[in-house]
Amino acid sequence: MAKKPVTLAIASGKGGTGKSCVAASLMVTVPEIIGADADVEEPNLSILLGAIPYASSLVETPLPVIDEALCDRCGKCVEACRFSALNMFGNNFPSPNNLCHGCGVCSMVCPRNAITETGKPVGEIRMLRGNGMSVFEGRLFVGMPNPIPLIQATIDAAMEEKKNLVIDCPPGTSCPMVAAVRNADMVILVTEPTPFGAADLNLALQVIINLDKPAAVVINRSDLGGADIDSLASRYGVPIAARLPFSRSIAESYARGNPPASMDLQWKEAMLSIWESAERISGN
Ligand code: SF4
Ligand code: SF4
Repeated sequence: MAKKPVTLAIASGKGGTGKSCVAASLMVTVPEIIGADADVEEPNLSILLGAIPYASSLVETPLPVIDEALCDRCGKCVEACRFSALNMFGNNFPSPNNLCHGCGVCSMVCPRNAITETGKPVGEIRMLRGNGMSVFEGRLFVGMPNPIPLIQATIDAAMEEKKNLVIDCPPGTSCPMVAAVRNADMVILVTEPTPFGAADLNLALQVIINLDKPAAVVINRSDLGGADIDSLASRYGVPIAARLPFSRSIAESYARGNPPASMDLQWKEAMLSIWESAERISGN
């Protein structure tokens, strides 16, 4: 029976733990995986893979347009907007500002059907190739307040390929991270054994457990810092998938844009073992 494609999300409670390093290392180790860079405010997966853009498409969200011939300036749309995204000064007509999330509530509440919607570009999806690998990369335009539609569109575009997929998620534990891990078969949480690393991992584990996602933890720079990541992970019943000690030569090479697994056997073996777990969990 043909194997079904596996989707593995690489997330972290905080930035700087080596999340993109793990995502790129998986891609250079396991054959025929494509990537989705959902860290749309700071995408860097393509740099680590040496991938070059060959196509792009705009992603738009709905933006309200007020028909001044119909509007009676009742203000109901302004009251209903939870994002303070409609300005209405004095006796002027309401007008949307940059905080608009495109939720459509204003047009639903308008009693005079004075609000229609147009498309507002919020970012782009770039398709990149290089060294035999393909990446879908979301790039949020400067000043756009809501990355979630772009994150979802980037992952959807990659999933349409129906191939094994690694998602480089945005850091943190808020809505963008949830949007990025939602469709994954398994989530890898990358952390470091420092007090900050442990505190943010604790939050990330709570999110992942609440989403009922299979997960495992990768401890990067596992020999630096004394935080007890093992006890924390076991409290949530989440296994440690790999411990990767600090190496100056790996750090230097990473700074030059090379994924650690392309030069280090321990990283390579860890990536193979993580992928085997993801395949097992997804039912392959
Ligand atoms: S709810 Fe409709 S009619 Fe009232 S101010 Fe807004 S656009 Fe104008
Ligand atoms: S679409 Fe939503 S966020 Fe934008 S102005 Fe209307 S109610 Fe506010």
